[in-house]
Amino acid sequence: MNEIILLKEGEIALKGLNKRNFEEAFIRNLRHRMKDCGEFEYRRDQSMIYCTPVGDADMDAAVLAASRTFGAAAICRAGITEKDVYKIAEDVCVYCAKELDRARTFKVACKRSDKHFPYKSPELSAEVGGRVLEKFPHLIVDLKEPDLTVHIEIRDINAYIHTGNRPAAGGIPVGTSGRGMLLLSGGIDSPVAGYMMAKRGVDISCIHFAAPPYTSDRARLKVERLCERLTPYTGDNAFYCVPFTKLQEALRDHCPEEYFTIIMRRMMIKIAQKIAKKNGMQCLITGESVGQVASQTMGAIVCTDAACEMPMFRPCIGMDKTEIIEVSRRIDTFDISIEPYEDCCTVFTPKHPKTRPELSAVLEAEAAYDFDTLVDEAVEGTEVKVIKRE
Ligand code: ATP
Ligand code: MG
Repeated sequence: MNEIILLKEGEIALKGLNKRNFEEAFIRNLRHRMKDCGEFEYRRDQSMIYCTPVGDADMDAAVLAASRTFGAAAICRAGITEKDVYKIAEDVCVYCAKELDRARTFKVACKRSDKHFPYKSPELSAEVGGRVLEKFPHLIVDLKEPDLTVHIEIRDINAYIHTGNRPAAGGIPVGTSGRGMLLLSGGIDSPVAGYMMAKRGVDISCIHFAAPPYTSDRARLKVERLCERLTPYTGDNAFYCVPFTKLQEALRDHCPEEYFTIIMRRMMIKIAQKIAKKNGMQCLITGESVGQVASQTMGAIVCTDAACEMPMFRPCIGMDKTEIIEVSRRIDTFDISIEPYEDCCTVFTPKHPKTRPELSAVLEAEAAYDFDTLVDEAVEGTEVKVIKRE
């Protein structure tokens, strides 16, 4: 029996005149994410996206890819049948055979979007339910709390059979909210931050600061793998790797130790911002959460923000570590994040960083050396590569 993937719009359905643009972006993203699963035809109608395979398709992989593409609230994989009550009843018995075998109680729920269909929903449910009971005599009808609900949707061209919607990725399609540069460390928080902004439609590129030989090649590769882990949600990502060693050594040698961390973060922001601007991005994104570590106190955030002219988004700002970990497990970045590799932030870290830095003192410390030239050098030396969909 032929199958289809049905994606039910969430937030997109509420868009006014712009709805069409969002739907088109969603279909464009689906097309890209599902291209290795076979050929599909995409159609939209009444806040639903229909993805019909043309010829052979890997439906398991396609459903997985579609369920990670932002833009739909719910997803289901359904059998396609004709709008004929006897055919529907026959096909339900075949398509749902495994689940019907396993269940003790069931019900049939019908939705009739095509009002020309001659049966009303309760009649259709009764007719199909009766046929199911004949074929699966162990079953009992339970309308309140059945083990299994067989759904029948009578839509414009066909009827569809499935056993329920699953939650989809939610959000709005990547690319509909501009472009942003994610500061991606090897930690737990920043991949989650990237995922969250992509969910709000931001097209993400990643930037990573590496300090060889203090940080290893394997540490950089770990971050590339994290970047790759994000691609089922974000699509292909540009990955910028900044040579940060010279700047960090200069900071070690020329700035007061207690300001090392805060000034280093300001340098990261300055570099990221320059590269972001040059490549048409409108914002920076970090995984900061207020109060988590010394560099994320309110005072430190004020000082980092002052180094940035574009909006800096910190979607994890109000989240507890446990909440961030929960998301990171769900999106499958956690296992890589906890691999024990060094990060440039842990190189030369002061014993007593200032937790309440004054911006004026930070600026004064910064002015003591020509860090700007090193910032420009780091921008010049940055390498970029495209990380393809996993
Ligand atoms: P994470 O878990 O994301 O590493 P963290 O709790 O370790 O965060 P910090 O090390 O203070 O916190 O970093 C705060 C934010 O700064 C990170 O979330 C990330 O966005 C950015 N960041 C830190 N180190 C790097 C790096 N080496 N390259 C790029 N961005 C970085
Ligand atoms: Mg970190």
